Amino acid sequence: MENSTQTTTEKTKFCKYCGQAIPEAAVICTHCGCQVEEIKNTSQAQPQVVINNTNTNANVNTNVNGGHGMGKPKNKWVALCLCIFLGGIGAHKFYEGKIGSGILYFFTAGLFFIGWLIDIFVLLNKPNPYYVY
Ligand SMILES: [Zn+2]
Repeated sequence: MENSTQTTTEKTKFCKYCGQAIPEAAVICTHCGCQVEEIKNTSQAQPQVVINNTNTNANVNTNVNGGHGMGKPKNKWVALCLCIFLGGIGAHKFYEGKIGSGILYFFTAGLFFIGWLIDIFVLLNKPNPYYVY
């Protein structure tokens, strides 16, 4: 209670050995040199839990973004350009690694331009990059 009432401007505390006002953060009294704080208390302030949480979140993000085995990242605009200009021969399907669909598009002129038109709108609505599974 004395600390709270007598502390006015800076955070100070009072040495329990000599009674002088010393900085709040001081571990050793600046007047008598006695150790006024246990070093254990200082080490407990380490934010280990916060650090662990951050690492966990980073790992989750890496897994989501990296997507190993979950799909291949494809550039939306590359695929869209391929689809618009070369969609009639299935170029965007080959770009996505869908060889079967690409061959089908190649021989049917993009599923008679119906699949070609649909793919343009589908690609427009995809995020960039998007993932092919
Ligand atoms: Zn002291």
